[in-house]
Amino acid sequence: MHGNMMDRPLLVSSIIDHAATTHPHTEIVSRLCEGDIHRYTIKDAATRSKKLANALIKRNISQGDRIATLAWNTHRHYELYYGVAGMGAIAHTINPRLFPEQLVYIINHAEDRWLFVDLTFLPLLEAIKDKITKVEQFVILTDDSHLPETSLPNVISYESLIADESEQFEWPEFDEKQAAFLCYTSGTTGNPKGVLYSHRSTVIHAMASIATDALGISEKSCLLPVVPMFHVNAWGTPFSSAIVGAKMVFPGPGMDGASIWELVDSEQPDLLLGVPTVWLMLLNHMDEIGKKLNSVQNVVVGGSAAPLSMIQRFDEQHDAFLIHAWGMTEMSPIGTINNFTPAMRSMSKDARYSLQLKQGRPCYGVEMKIVDDANQALIHDGKAFGHLMVRGPWITNGYYLNDDRSSFVDGWFDTGDVATIDPDNYLSLVDRAKDVIKSGGEWISSIDLENAAIGHPDLQECCVIGVAHEKWDERPLLLAIKTADSTATADDVKNYLSDKIAKWWMPDDVVFVDSLPHTATGKLLKIDLRKQYQDYLMP
Ligand code: AMP
Repeated sequence: MHGNMMDRPLLVSSIIDHAATTHPHTEIVSRLCEGDIHRYTIKDAATRSKKLANALIKRNISQGDRIATLAWNTHRHYELYYGVAGMGAIAHTINPRLFPEQLVYIINHAEDRWLFVDLTFLPLLEAIKDKITKVEQFVILTDDSHLPETSLPNVISYESLIADESEQFEWPEFDEKQAAFLCYTSGTTGNPKGVLYSHRSTVIHAMASIATDALGISEKSCLLPVVPMFHVNAWGTPFSSAIVGAKMVFPGPGMDGASIWELVDSEQPDLLLGVPTVWLMLLNHMDEIGKKLNSVQNVVVGGSAAPLSMIQRFDEQHDAFLIHAWGMTEMSPIGTINNFTPAMRSMSKDARYSLQLKQGRPCYGVEMKIVDDANQALIHDGKAFGHLMVRGPWITNGYYLNDDRSSFVDGWFDTGDVATIDPDNYLSLVDRAKDVIKSGGEWISSIDLENAAIGHPDLQECCVIGVAHEKWDERPLLLAIKTADSTATADDVKNYLSDKIAKWWMPDDVVFVDSLPHTATGKLLKIDLRKQYQDYLMP
Protein backbone atom coordinates (compact mmCIF):
# COMPACT_ATOMS: atom_id res chain seq x y z
CA MET A 1 0.00 0.00 0.00
CA HIS A 2 1.38 3.40 -0.96
CA GLY A 3 1.32 6.32 1.41
CA ASN A 4 -1.09 9.12 0.76
CA MET A 5 1.38 11.94 0.37
CA MET A 6 1.66 14.47 -2.43
CA ASP A 7 4.10 13.62 -5.18
CA ARG A 8 5.73 17.04 -5.60
CA PRO A 9 8.89 16.84 -7.73
CA LEU A 10 12.21 17.90 -6.17
CA LEU A 11 13.28 20.52 -8.72
CA VAL A 12 16.20 22.95 -8.55
CA SER A 13 13.78 25.79 -9.40
CA SER A 14 11.85 25.08 -6.18
CA ILE A 15 15.00 26.08 -4.24
CA ILE A 16 15.35 29.51 -5.80
CA ASP A 17 11.58 30.10 -5.55
CA HIS A 18 11.68 29.22 -1.86
CA ALA A 19 14.73 31.41 -1.30
CA ALA A 20 13.21 34.40 -3.11
CA THR A 21 10.02 34.24 -1.05
CA THR A 22 11.45 33.18 2.33
CA HIS A 23 14.90 34.80 2.35
CA PRO A 24 14.53 37.63 -0.19
CA HIS A 25 16.97 39.99 1.57
CA THR A 26 19.84 37.54 1.96
CA GLU A 27 22.96 39.00 0.36
CA ILE A 28 25.09 37.54 -2.41
CA VAL A 29 28.48 39.23 -2.82
CA SER A 30 30.82 38.57 -5.76
CA ARG A 31 34.28 39.64 -6.85
CA LEU A 32 34.03 40.06 -10.62
CA CYS A 33 36.52 39.59 -13.44
CA GLU A 34 36.00 43.26 -14.25
CA GLY A 35 37.62 44.00 -10.88
CA ASP A 36 34.75 45.38 -8.81
CA ILE A 37 32.72 43.87 -5.99
CA HIS A 38 29.10 43.22 -6.85
CA ARG A 39 26.34 42.81 -4.26
CA TYR A 40 22.65 42.10 -4.45
CA THR A 41 20.02 39.86 -2.84
CA ILE A 42 18.73 36.35 -3.45
CA LYS A 43 15.52 37.95 -4.69
CA ASP A 44 17.51 39.84 -7.35
CA ALA A 45 19.27 36.61 -8.33
CA ALA A 46 15.94 34.81 -8.68
CA THR A 47 14.55 37.61 -10.86
CA ARG A 48 17.58 37.63 -13.16
CA SER A 49 17.51 33.81 -13.41
CA LYS A 50 13.97 34.14 -14.74
CA LYS A 51 15.07 36.77 -17.25
CA LEU A 52 17.78 34.37 -18.40
CA ALA A 53 15.27 31.51 -18.74
CA ASN A 54 13.06 33.77 -20.87
CA ALA A 55 16.04 34.71 -23.06
CA LEU A 56 16.98 31.05 -23.62
CA ILE A 57 13.46 29.94 -24.46
CA LYS A 58 13.01 32.86 -26.87
CA ARG A 59 16.14 31.67 -28.70
CA ASN A 60 14.89 28.09 -29.07
CA ILE A 61 16.74 26.43 -26.23
CA SER A 62 14.68 23.41 -25.19
CA GLN A 63 14.52 21.10 -22.21
CA GLY A 64 17.46 18.70 -22.22
CA ASP A 65 19.73 20.97 -24.29
CA ARG A 66 23.25 21.33 -22.93
CA ILE A 67 24.32 24.85 -22.03
CA ALA A 68 27.97 25.14 -21.09
CA THR A 69 29.59 27.48 -18.57
CA LEU A 70 33.29 28.25 -18.29
CA ALA A 71 33.27 30.58 -15.34
CA TRP A 72 34.44 31.54 -11.86
CA ASN A 73 32.23 31.66 -8.77
CA THR A 74 30.17 34.80 -9.28
CA HIS A 75 26.54 35.93 -9.13
CA ARG A 76 26.21 35.46 -12.91
CA HIS A 77 27.31 31.83 -12.71
CA TYR A 78 24.80 31.40 -9.86
CA GLU A 79 22.02 32.79 -12.09
CA LEU A 80 23.07 30.35 -14.82
CA TYR A 81 22.73 27.43 -12.41
CA TYR A 82 19.13 28.36 -11.68
CA GLY A 83 18.10 29.83 -15.04
CA VAL A 84 19.39 26.94 -17.15
CA ALA A 85 18.44 24.02 -14.88
CA GLY A 86 15.22 25.75 -13.85
CA MET A 87 13.88 25.95 -17.42
CA GLY A 88 14.73 22.28 -17.95
CA ALA A 89 18.00 22.55 -19.90
CA ILE A 90 21.25 21.06 -18.56
CA ALA A 91 24.02 23.26 -17.20
CA HIS A 92 27.34 21.75 -18.27
CA THR A 93 30.00 23.26 -16.03
CA ILE A 94 33.42 23.12 -17.67
CA ASN A 95 36.66 22.98 -15.72
CA PRO A 96 39.04 25.52 -17.34
CA ARG A 97 42.01 23.58 -16.00
CA LEU A 98 41.46 20.76 -18.45
CA PHE A 99 43.96 20.93 -21.25
CA PRO A 100 42.76 22.04 -24.71
CA GLU A 101 42.18 18.56 -26.21
CA GLN A 102 40.04 17.66 -23.23
CA LEU A 103 38.05 20.90 -23.52
CA VAL A 104 37.40 20.12 -27.19
CA TYR A 105 36.44 16.56 -26.31
CA ILE A 106 33.91 17.42 -23.61
CA ILE A 107 32.31 20.35 -25.45
CA ASN A 108 31.79 18.14 -28.51
CA HIS A 109 30.82 15.08 -26.48
CA ALA A 110 28.21 17.04 -24.53
CA GLU A 111 27.04 18.70 -27.77
CA ASP A 112 26.83 22.02 -25.99
CA ARG A 113 24.58 24.43 -27.92
CA TRP A 114 25.53 27.60 -26.07
CA LEU A 115 28.61 28.48 -24.07
CA PHE A 116 28.75 31.18 -21.37
CA VAL A 117 32.31 32.28 -20.67
CA ASP A 118 34.08 34.60 -18.22
CA LEU A 119 36.49 37.19 -19.63
CA THR A 120 39.45 35.30 -18.13
CA PHE A 121 38.79 32.18 -20.17
CA LEU A 122 38.27 33.75 -23.60
CA PRO A 123 41.80 32.89 -24.80
CA LEU A 124 41.16 29.22 -23.94
CA LEU A 125 38.15 29.17 -26.24
CA GLU A 126 39.75 31.25 -28.98
CA ALA A 127 42.52 28.65 -29.21
CA ILE A 128 40.06 25.79 -29.84
CA LYS A 129 37.26 27.63 -31.63
CA ASP A 130 37.78 25.82 -34.94
CA LYS A 131 37.29 22.47 -33.22
CA ILE A 132 34.05 23.26 -31.37
CA THR A 133 31.97 24.27 -34.35
CA LYS A 134 28.68 22.96 -32.96
CA VAL A 135 28.44 25.74 -30.36
CA GLU A 136 25.87 28.14 -31.80
CA GLN A 137 26.27 31.06 -29.43
CA PHE A 138 29.00 32.38 -27.14
CA VAL A 139 27.89 34.62 -24.30
CA ILE A 140 30.54 36.60 -22.45
CA LEU A 141 29.75 37.07 -18.79
CA THR A 142 30.01 40.84 -18.70
CA ASP A 143 28.21 43.91 -20.03
CA ASP A 144 28.61 45.59 -23.42
CA SER A 145 31.04 48.18 -22.12
CA HIS A 146 33.52 45.43 -21.11
CA LEU A 147 33.09 43.30 -24.22
CA PRO A 148 36.60 42.72 -25.59
CA GLU A 149 37.83 42.13 -29.12
CA THR A 150 37.57 38.41 -29.80
CA SER A 151 37.99 36.00 -32.67
CA LEU A 152 35.04 33.91 -31.43
CA PRO A 153 32.03 33.98 -33.73
CA ASN A 154 28.50 34.88 -32.53
CA VAL A 155 29.36 36.74 -29.37
CA ILE A 156 27.04 38.72 -27.12
CA SER A 157 27.35 39.98 -23.57
CA TYR A 158 25.38 38.35 -20.78
CA GLU A 159 23.93 41.63 -19.62
CA SER A 160 22.63 42.52 -23.08
CA LEU A 161 21.17 39.00 -23.45
CA ILE A 162 18.94 39.37 -20.41
CA ALA A 163 18.46 43.16 -20.36
CA ASP A 164 15.08 43.40 -22.09
CA GLU A 165 13.62 40.13 -20.90
CA SER A 166 10.56 39.87 -18.69
CA GLU A 167 11.00 39.24 -14.98
CA GLN A 168 7.90 37.05 -15.06
CA PHE A 169 8.46 33.35 -15.62
CA GLU A 170 6.71 30.22 -14.32
CA TRP A 171 9.32 27.53 -13.79
CA PRO A 172 8.08 24.44 -15.67
CA GLU A 173 7.24 21.28 -13.75
CA PHE A 174 8.68 18.00 -14.92
CA ASP A 175 9.98 14.67 -13.65
CA GLU A 176 12.46 15.19 -10.82
CA LYS A 177 14.68 12.54 -12.38
CA GLN A 178 15.31 14.84 -15.37
CA ALA A 179 18.97 15.89 -15.76
CA ALA A 180 19.98 19.29 -14.37
CA PHE A 181 23.81 19.47 -14.40
CA LEU A 182 26.61 17.78 -16.30
CA CYS A 183 30.14 17.63 -14.91
CA TYR A 184 33.05 15.70 -16.42
CA THR A 185 35.57 13.98 -14.20
CA SER A 186 39.07 15.41 -14.56
CA GLY A 187 40.08 11.94 -15.67
CA THR A 188 42.84 9.52 -14.84
CA THR A 189 43.45 7.94 -18.19
CA GLY A 190 41.62 8.33 -21.44
CA ASN A 191 38.88 10.87 -22.08
CA PRO A 192 36.99 12.61 -19.28
CA LYS A 193 33.69 10.98 -18.34
CA GLY A 194 30.46 12.92 -17.82
CA VAL A 195 28.39 12.65 -14.66
CA LEU A 196 24.80 13.75 -15.18
CA TYR A 197 23.15 14.97 -11.98
CA SER A 198 19.35 14.96 -11.78
CA HIS A 199 17.14 17.56 -10.13
CA ARG A 200 16.26 15.00 -7.48
CA SER A 201 19.87 14.07 -6.70
CA THR A 202 20.90 17.75 -6.59
CA VAL A 203 18.13 18.71 -4.16
CA ILE A 204 18.54 15.70 -1.85
CA HIS A 205 22.33 16.15 -1.77
CA ALA A 206 21.92 19.82 -0.82
CA MET A 207 19.37 19.04 1.90
CA ALA A 208 21.59 16.37 3.43
CA SER A 209 24.68 18.60 3.42
CA ILE A 210 22.93 21.34 5.42
CA ALA A 211 22.59 19.27 8.64
CA THR A 212 24.25 20.69 11.75
CA ASP A 213 26.68 17.77 11.94
CA ALA A 214 27.30 17.81 8.18
CA LEU A 215 28.26 21.28 6.88
CA GLY A 216 26.08 22.94 9.52
CA ILE A 217 24.59 25.69 7.33
CA SER A 218 21.76 27.96 8.48
CA GLU A 219 20.30 31.40 7.87
CA LYS A 220 22.89 32.68 10.35
CA SER A 221 25.74 31.38 8.17
CA CYS A 222 27.88 33.27 5.72
CA LEU A 223 29.68 30.99 3.26
CA LEU A 224 32.77 31.71 1.21
CA PRO A 225 33.07 28.82 -1.28
CA VAL A 226 36.48 28.90 -2.94
CA VAL A 227 35.66 25.43 -4.20
CA PRO A 228 34.74 26.19 -7.81
CA MET A 229 31.32 26.25 -9.41
CA PHE A 230 33.07 24.92 -12.54
CA HIS A 231 33.62 21.56 -10.85
CA VAL A 232 31.15 19.48 -8.82
CA ASN A 233 28.81 22.44 -8.33
CA ALA A 234 30.93 24.02 -5.61
CA TRP A 235 30.02 21.09 -3.34
CA GLY A 236 26.33 21.98 -3.73
CA THR A 237 26.68 25.26 -1.80
CA PRO A 238 24.72 27.36 -4.33
CA PHE A 239 21.75 25.13 -3.42
CA SER A 240 22.30 24.46 0.27
CA SER A 241 22.83 28.16 1.01
CA ALA A 242 19.66 29.13 -0.87
CA ILE A 243 17.54 26.51 0.93
CA VAL A 244 18.36 28.04 4.31
CA GLY A 245 18.99 31.64 3.18
CA ALA A 246 22.68 31.78 4.11
CA LYS A 247 24.72 34.70 2.77
CA MET A 248 27.12 33.79 -0.06
CA VAL A 249 30.45 35.42 -0.84
CA PHE A 250 31.82 34.47 -4.26
CA PRO A 251 35.56 35.01 -4.76
CA GLY A 252 35.49 35.18 -8.58
CA PRO A 253 39.01 34.94 -10.01
CA GLY A 254 40.70 35.99 -6.74
CA MET A 255 41.95 32.73 -5.20
CA ASP A 256 45.22 34.04 -3.71
CA GLY A 257 45.62 34.58 0.02
CA ALA A 258 45.42 38.39 -0.12
CA SER A 259 42.21 38.42 -2.19
CA ILE A 260 40.50 35.84 0.02
CA TRP A 261 41.54 37.72 3.17
CA GLU A 262 40.17 40.95 1.75
CA LEU A 263 36.75 39.29 1.36
CA VAL A 264 36.93 37.59 4.76
CA ASP A 265 37.73 40.96 6.33
CA SER A 266 34.94 42.84 4.58
CA GLU A 267 32.16 40.20 4.54
CA GLN A 268 32.91 38.26 7.75
CA PRO A 269 32.12 34.71 6.57
CA ASP A 270 32.01 31.99 9.22
CA LEU A 271 32.34 29.02 6.84
CA LEU A 272 35.07 28.67 4.19
CA LEU A 273 35.15 25.77 1.73
CA GLY A 274 37.97 24.68 -0.57
CA VAL A 275 40.92 22.45 -1.38
CA PRO A 276 44.09 22.40 0.79
CA THR A 277 46.20 24.42 -1.68
CA VAL A 278 43.96 27.44 -1.34
CA TRP A 279 44.09 27.32 2.45
CA LEU A 280 47.85 27.01 2.45
CA MET A 281 48.03 30.28 0.48
CA LEU A 282 45.60 31.95 2.90
CA LEU A 283 47.40 30.68 6.02
CA ASN A 284 50.76 31.87 4.67
CA HIS A 285 49.30 35.26 3.85
CA MET A 286 47.84 35.57 7.35
CA ASP A 287 51.27 34.76 8.80
CA GLU A 288 52.83 37.47 6.63
CA ILE A 289 50.39 40.18 7.70
CA GLY A 290 50.13 38.91 11.30
CA LYS A 291 46.33 38.91 11.43
CA LYS A 292 43.68 36.45 12.57
CA LEU A 293 40.67 35.09 10.68
CA ASN A 294 38.31 36.35 13.36
CA SER A 295 34.93 35.63 11.79
CA VAL A 296 35.81 32.13 10.56
CA GLN A 297 34.52 29.24 12.67
CA ASN A 298 34.85 26.33 10.26
CA VAL A 299 36.95 25.57 7.20
CA VAL A 300 35.78 22.66 5.07
CA VAL A 301 38.70 20.95 3.34
CA GLY A 302 38.26 18.30 0.65
CA GLY A 303 39.46 17.27 -2.78
CA SER A 304 42.82 16.26 -1.34
CA ALA A 305 43.83 15.13 2.11
CA ALA A 306 44.09 17.87 4.72
CA PRO A 307 47.56 17.76 6.30
CA LEU A 308 48.06 17.77 10.06
CA SER A 309 49.88 21.11 9.96
CA MET A 310 46.82 22.72 8.38
CA ILE A 311 44.46 21.33 11.03
CA GLN A 312 46.85 22.69 13.69
CA ARG A 313 47.36 26.10 12.10
CA PHE A 314 43.65 26.79 11.72
CA ASP A 315 43.02 25.67 15.30
CA GLU A 316 45.94 27.25 17.09
CA GLN A 317 46.38 30.48 15.12
CA HIS A 318 42.79 31.21 14.07
CA ASP A 319 40.48 29.33 16.47
CA ALA A 320 38.89 27.73 13.41
CA PHE A 321 37.87 24.07 13.19
CA LEU A 322 38.94 22.23 10.05
CA ILE A 323 36.12 20.02 8.79
CA HIS A 324 37.75 17.34 6.68
CA ALA A 325 35.46 16.03 3.93
CA TRP A 326 35.73 13.49 1.14
CA GLY A 327 33.74 12.99 -2.02
CA MET A 328 34.03 12.86 -5.76
CA THR A 329 32.46 14.06 -8.99
CA GLU A 330 30.44 10.84 -9.19
CA MET A 331 28.97 11.60 -5.73
CA SER A 332 27.63 15.13 -6.39
CA PRO A 333 30.27 15.30 -4.62
CA ILE A 334 29.79 14.89 -0.84
CA GLY A 335 30.44 11.48 0.70
CA THR A 336 31.83 11.90 4.19
CA ILE A 337 32.23 14.84 6.56
CA ASN A 338 34.30 15.09 9.73
CA ASN A 339 32.57 17.77 11.81
CA PHE A 340 33.10 18.45 15.51
CA THR A 341 31.50 15.85 17.81
CA PRO A 342 30.74 15.79 21.55
CA ALA A 343 33.36 13.02 21.90
CA MET A 344 36.05 15.41 20.62
CA ARG A 345 35.45 17.72 23.60
CA SER A 346 37.10 15.35 26.02
CA MET A 347 39.95 14.33 23.71
CA SER A 348 43.51 15.58 23.99
CA LYS A 349 44.46 17.92 21.16
CA ASP A 350 46.68 15.30 19.58
CA ALA A 351 43.93 12.68 19.68
CA ARG A 352 41.47 15.12 18.15
CA TYR A 353 43.90 16.13 15.42
CA SER A 354 44.51 12.50 14.47
CA LEU A 355 40.76 11.93 14.28
CA GLN A 356 40.44 15.07 12.11
CA LEU A 357 42.97 13.59 9.70
CA LYS A 358 40.35 10.99 8.78
CA GLN A 359 37.93 11.96 6.02
CA GLY A 360 34.90 11.61 8.31
CA ARG A 361 31.64 9.71 8.44
CA PRO A 362 29.04 9.38 5.67
CA CYS A 363 26.12 11.80 5.45
CA TYR A 364 22.76 10.11 5.79
CA GLY A 365 22.13 8.84 2.26
CA VAL A 366 25.63 7.53 1.58
CA GLU A 367 26.46 3.88 2.34
CA MET A 368 30.07 2.68 2.19
CA LYS A 369 31.94 -0.59 2.34
CA ILE A 370 35.47 -1.76 1.56
CA VAL A 371 36.11 -4.91 -0.43
CA ASP A 372 39.09 -6.99 -1.49
CA ASP A 373 40.05 -7.79 -5.09
CA ALA A 374 37.46 -10.59 -5.13
CA ASN A 375 34.72 -8.12 -4.08
CA GLN A 376 34.47 -9.69 -0.61
CA ALA A 377 33.53 -7.23 2.14
CA LEU A 378 36.33 -6.39 4.55
CA ILE A 379 36.06 -5.71 8.27
CA HIS A 380 35.59 -2.12 9.46
CA ASP A 381 38.34 -2.16 12.06
CA GLY A 382 40.27 0.90 10.91
CA LYS A 383 43.16 -1.33 9.78
CA ALA A 384 41.96 -3.52 6.92
CA PHE A 385 42.09 -1.56 3.68
CA GLY A 386 40.40 -2.26 0.37
CA HIS A 387 38.51 -0.79 -2.56
CA LEU A 388 36.04 1.78 -1.34
CA MET A 389 32.52 1.14 -2.67
CA VAL A 390 29.57 3.49 -2.20
CA ARG A 391 25.88 3.73 -3.04
CA GLY A 392 23.15 6.30 -2.49
CA PRO A 393 20.60 8.55 -4.17
CA TRP A 394 23.15 11.19 -5.25
CA ILE A 395 25.76 8.74 -6.54
CA THR A 396 25.99 8.15 -10.28
CA ASN A 397 24.75 4.95 -11.85
CA GLY A 398 26.68 5.31 -15.11
CA TYR A 399 28.54 7.85 -17.24
CA TYR A 400 26.96 10.12 -19.84
CA LEU A 401 26.90 8.46 -23.29
CA ASN A 402 29.56 6.02 -22.19
CA ASP A 403 28.98 2.30 -21.81
CA ASP A 404 31.95 1.66 -19.52
CA ARG A 405 30.38 -0.24 -16.58
CA SER A 406 33.65 -1.31 -14.99
CA SER A 407 33.11 0.83 -11.87
CA PHE A 408 29.59 -0.44 -11.20
CA VAL A 409 29.40 -3.70 -9.26
CA ASP A 410 26.17 -5.19 -7.88
CA GLY A 411 24.53 -1.81 -7.35
CA TRP A 412 27.65 -0.25 -5.80
CA PHE A 413 30.06 2.29 -7.30
CA ASP A 414 33.77 1.55 -7.05
CA THR A 415 35.33 4.89 -6.11
CA GLY A 416 38.82 3.90 -7.25
CA ASP A 417 40.02 4.89 -3.79
CA VAL A 418 41.60 2.54 -1.33
CA ALA A 419 40.55 3.15 2.26
CA THR A 420 40.01 1.88 5.79
CA ILE A 421 36.76 2.28 7.75
CA ASP A 422 36.88 2.19 11.55
CA PRO A 423 34.25 0.77 13.93
CA ASP A 424 32.69 4.26 14.30
CA ASN A 425 32.31 4.41 10.49
CA TYR A 426 35.09 6.99 10.00
CA LEU A 427 36.64 6.75 6.56
CA SER A 428 40.40 7.06 6.15
CA LEU A 429 41.78 7.26 2.62
CA VAL A 430 44.92 5.24 1.92
CA ASP A 431 45.58 5.96 -1.72
CA ARG A 432 44.03 6.45 -5.10
CA ALA A 433 44.00 2.99 -6.58
CA LYS A 434 45.28 4.38 -9.85
CA ASP A 435 48.28 6.42 -8.69
CA VAL A 436 46.82 9.67 -9.87
CA ILE A 437 48.70 12.85 -8.92
CA LYS A 438 46.79 15.56 -7.05
CA SER A 439 48.14 19.02 -7.70
CA GLY A 440 46.27 21.92 -6.14
CA GLY A 441 43.12 19.82 -5.88
CA GLU A 442 43.26 18.88 -9.57
CA TRP A 443 44.21 15.58 -11.13
CA ILE A 444 47.24 14.81 -13.21
CA SER A 445 47.33 11.41 -14.85
CA SER A 446 50.70 9.74 -14.33
CA ILE A 447 50.00 7.33 -17.18
CA ASP A 448 49.17 10.08 -19.70
CA LEU A 449 52.40 11.85 -18.73
CA GLU A 450 54.40 8.65 -19.11
CA ASN A 451 52.82 8.05 -22.49
CA ALA A 452 53.73 11.56 -23.63
CA ALA A 453 57.31 11.35 -22.35
CA ILE A 454 58.06 7.96 -23.81
CA GLY A 455 57.69 9.53 -27.26
CA HIS A 456 61.07 11.20 -26.70
CA PRO A 457 63.54 9.26 -28.84
CA ASP A 458 66.18 9.10 -26.09
CA LEU A 459 63.93 7.64 -23.40
CA GLN A 460 63.54 3.91 -22.86
CA GLU A 461 61.13 3.77 -20.02
CA CYS A 462 59.31 6.40 -17.97
CA CYS A 463 57.56 6.42 -14.65
CA VAL A 464 55.71 9.39 -13.20
CA ILE A 465 54.94 9.64 -9.49
CA GLY A 466 53.43 12.34 -7.30
CA VAL A 467 55.81 13.78 -4.72
CA ALA A 468 55.12 16.18 -1.86
CA HIS A 469 55.17 19.90 -2.67
CA GLU A 470 54.93 22.77 -0.22
CA LYS A 471 52.41 24.81 -2.21
CA TRP A 472 50.56 22.37 -4.49
CA ASP A 473 50.47 19.32 -2.15
CA GLU A 474 51.83 17.12 -4.89
CA ARG A 475 53.68 17.61 -8.13
CA PRO A 476 54.71 15.10 -10.79
CA LEU A 477 58.26 13.80 -10.88
CA LEU A 478 59.39 11.96 -14.00
CA LEU A 479 61.81 9.07 -13.58
CA ALA A 480 63.30 7.91 -16.87
CA ILE A 481 65.78 5.43 -18.27
CA LYS A 482 67.82 6.89 -21.13
CA THR A 483 69.06 4.99 -24.15
CA ALA A 484 72.77 4.16 -24.10
CA ASP A 485 75.01 7.11 -25.10
CA SER A 486 72.15 9.60 -24.91
CA THR A 487 73.16 13.11 -23.86
CA ALA A 488 69.58 14.33 -23.27
CA THR A 489 69.13 16.59 -20.24
CA ALA A 490 66.11 17.15 -18.01
CA ASP A 491 65.45 20.43 -19.87
CA ASP A 492 65.49 18.62 -23.23
CA VAL A 493 62.77 16.28 -21.99
CA LYS A 494 60.70 19.16 -20.63
CA ASN A 495 61.00 21.06 -23.91
CA TYR A 496 59.86 17.95 -25.72
CA LEU A 497 56.79 17.71 -23.47
CA SER A 498 55.91 21.39 -23.60
CA ASP A 499 53.51 21.20 -26.57
CA LYS A 500 52.08 17.80 -25.64
CA ILE A 501 50.62 18.38 -22.21
CA ALA A 502 48.87 21.11 -20.25
CA LYS A 503 51.39 23.57 -18.81
CA TRP A 504 50.53 22.73 -15.20
CA TRP A 505 51.07 19.03 -15.88
CA MET A 506 54.79 19.61 -16.56
CA PRO A 507 56.86 17.39 -14.23
CA ASP A 508 58.79 19.55 -11.75
CA ASP A 509 61.90 17.58 -12.50
CA VAL A 510 63.22 14.71 -14.57
CA VAL A 511 65.50 12.20 -12.84
CA PHE A 512 67.47 9.74 -14.96
CA VAL A 513 67.75 6.29 -13.40
CA ASP A 514 69.40 3.00 -14.41
CA SER A 515 66.40 0.79 -13.72
CA LEU A 516 62.77 0.92 -12.59
CA PRO A 517 61.01 -1.64 -10.34
CA HIS A 518 58.13 -3.73 -11.73
CA THR A 519 55.38 -5.96 -10.38
CA ALA A 520 55.10 -9.63 -11.23
CA THR A 521 52.80 -8.77 -14.13
CA GLY A 522 55.23 -6.24 -15.58
CA LYS A 523 53.56 -3.09 -14.25
CA LEU A 524 55.61 -0.32 -12.71
CA LEU A 525 55.79 -0.67 -8.95
CA LYS A 526 55.34 2.88 -7.74
CA ILE A 527 54.86 2.53 -4.01
CA ASP A 528 58.57 2.18 -3.21
CA LEU A 529 59.50 4.97 -5.62
CA ARG A 530 57.04 7.30 -3.93
CA LYS A 531 58.64 6.58 -0.56
CA GLN A 532 62.13 7.04 -1.96
CA TYR A 533 61.38 10.40 -3.64
CA GLN A 534 58.76 11.66 -1.17
CA ASP A 535 60.78 14.72 -0.09
CA TYR A 536 62.53 15.33 -3.40
CA LEU A 537 60.87 18.73 -3.97
CA MET A 538 60.68 19.84 -0.36
CA PRO A 539 62.99 22.62 0.82
P1 AMP B 1 37.05 14.64 -7.96
O1 AMP B 1 36.14 13.68 -8.63
O2 AMP B 1 37.85 15.44 -8.87
O3 AMP B 1 36.30 15.44 -6.97
O4 AMP B 1 38.11 13.79 -7.13
C1 AMP B 1 37.69 12.80 -6.25
C2 AMP B 1 38.87 12.13 -5.61
O5 AMP B 1 39.63 13.08 -4.88
C3 AMP B 1 38.49 11.07 -4.61
O6 AMP B 1 38.16 9.85 -5.22
C4 AMP B 1 39.75 11.00 -3.79
O7 AMP B 1 40.74 10.20 -4.42
C5 AMP B 1 40.23 12.44 -3.76
N1 AMP B 1 39.79 13.12 -2.53
C6 AMP B 1 38.69 13.85 -2.34
N2 AMP B 1 38.62 14.30 -1.08
C7 AMP B 1 39.73 13.84 -0.46
C8 AMP B 1 40.24 13.94 0.88
N3 AMP B 1 39.62 14.63 1.82
N4 AMP B 1 41.41 13.32 1.14
C9 AMP B 1 42.06 12.63 0.20
N5 AMP B 1 41.64 12.49 -1.06
C10 AMP B 1 40.47 13.08 -1.38
